[in-house]
Amino acid sequence: MENKEIILQNLQHIYTRIAETCLKAGRNKEDVRLLLATKTQDADTIKIALDAGEKLIGENKVQEYTEKWEELKDYNIERHFIGHLQTNKIKEIIKYVTCIESVDRIDLAQKLSAKLVSENKTMEIYIEVNTSEEDSKSGVSPENAIALIQQIKALPNIQITGLMTIGKPSENPEGTRFCFQILRKLKEEAQAQNLLPQNCALSMGMSHDLEVAIEEGSTIVRVGSAIFGNRNYAK
Ligand SMILES: *Cc1c(COP(=O)(O)O)cnc(C)c1O
Repeated sequence: MENKEIILQNLQHIYTRIAETCLKAGRNKEDVRLLLATKTQDADTIKIALDAGEKLIGENKVQEYTEKWEELKDYNIERHFIGHLQTNKIKEIIKYVTCIESVDRIDLAQKLSAKLVSENKTMEIYIEVNTSEEDSKSGVSPENAIALIQQIKALPNIQITGLMTIGKPSENPEGTRFCFQILRKLKEEAQAQNLLPQNCALSMGMSHDLEVAIEEGSTIVRVGSAIFGNRNYAK
């Protein structure tokens, strides 16, 4: 099969997985959005999914937005940033995205806020939480998350509208469930303190574990390899 047919078929399969899980969990499938995790994919490959009607993408590296910008800039889509963000890349990333899902420390939030103020812009952000508490992972620890949200809420021109996590890698998706539960409970705790909006997003679940994430309340699943195939980092 041609690349295009495979991608279209994969997309359909993802929507079936989302719909079946929502049905079982008693949720509306419209309440779960699909974010295409497009890292390492070239613009032509991404265009196949966008031409099929996809509306939300996320890159992990600022440079990948830069490289693909000319070819993708005319699409009327939402663009998020989902990777580790260095403060020296703030100036560039705010040209491309409407939401940074991976804010995990106060100095990043302060510098982002200051830059947005100076450019008279605003931006939505999510707080990335390291729910698996692996040293290798970005994200604020669950026990420090509420304090970070409180600090960031005081900053101008950024608005916290969601929480994001990458679950613990596990052979069996059930092994990741506790991560999604931690994120959902944090959301509920922060909402009870009026720190997060009632329609706060929960960005959690990937190719391998989106069912478990949806069962735990995910509103955005970030899917890469189940749509585009295995990534080729050598390219
Ligand atoms: C790569 C990536 C994904 C998608 O992972 P797949 O397993 O390919 O679906 C989701 N979120 C983040 C932050 C990623 O880096």
